[in-house]
Amino acid sequence: MPEGYCVKCKAKKEIVDAVEEVMKNGRKAIKGRCPTCGTVMFKILGGKATPPPPATGGTPPGGAPGAANPAS
Ligand SMILES: [Zn+2]
Repeated sequence: MPEGYCVKCKAKKEIVDAVEEVMKNGRKAIKGRCPTCGTVMFKILGGKATPPPPATGGTPPGGAPGAANPAS
């Protein structure tokens, strides 16, 4: 469950009913509600809409690490 800052509670809260949205600028955001007061919360995620490039050092393409073990 993602966390966000509720301006009404003035505290960090879990975001309930969180839905991921992609804004017009390509950034992702989480939109949901505060579990305590129900205020709409909006958390902008840092990454871009496009997934990060694979194989950034170590992970073999076409298989999750540890998922397959053909050498047996
Ligand atoms: Zn709240």
